[in-house]
Amino acid sequence: MVVDMGARVLIVEDDELIASSLARALGAQGYETSAVTTVADAEGALAEHPPDLVLLDLGLPDGDGASIARRVARDHAEVPVIVLTARSEEADIVLGLEAGAVDYVVKPFRLAELSARIASHLRWRRALTSGVADDDVIRLGDLVVDRPARRVSLHGNDVALRPKEFDLLERLALDAGAVVSREQLIDDVWDENWWGSTKTLDVHVNSIRRKLGEGAGEPSRITTIRGVGYRLEHERREP
Ligand code: CA
Repeated sequence: MVVDMGARVLIVEDDELIASSLARALGAQGYETSAVTTVADAEGALAEHPPDLVLLDLGLPDGDGASIARRVARDHAEVPVIVLTARSEEADIVLGLEAGAVDYVVKPFRLAELSARIASHLRWRRALTSGVADDDVIRLGDLVVDRPARRVSLHGNDVALRPKEFDLLERLALDAGAVVSREQLIDDVWDENWWGSTKTLDVHVNSIRRKLGEGAGEPSRITTIRGVGYRLEHERREP
């Protein structure tokens, strides 16, 4: 795995066991970490020394971590926030995403999974800031979404998408690597007064997957986050 050496990761987590094992593991991978346990300290750390990425527990002793996600989205829009959440807290995931987090991992998480997501978000951020990914043509490995031409290609071959399928893939691509909630997708791709079944969303995603040559049960570029939404990966995951 390519690690962004020296990238600064701010860990906001009041469970000290989790925080210290994260700090140790990420430190061993070449990240510079700092850890805080409260909303107040997180705000201080953000103001003093903005990190490159934030790992955020939402349940903090002095308040709701979502306020940190909102602050980062407002003041440091380029800094990805990954929410650390307990399995039972699906509502928290949605709350975190609505507050501006780009992703989440469920506790207890596998460190390899979290490191992969951190590396992927930092890589994507670098690509964005260096202008590799511009707004008009979004390149995600061998998948290219050409927004002005409304065309999608895979390995250089055109993928024939219907208009709503294109809109949906484009919407996911604009937030590649981030989880986009079902509500957001339906609002943006259909419209807010849309009253049809939300199954339509899943049908469209499955159709896009087929057109991208992904068979049922195969690894997909579009990850389903059950009950929450979908995430278009920066690159296809290896089986
Ligand atoms: Ca907590």
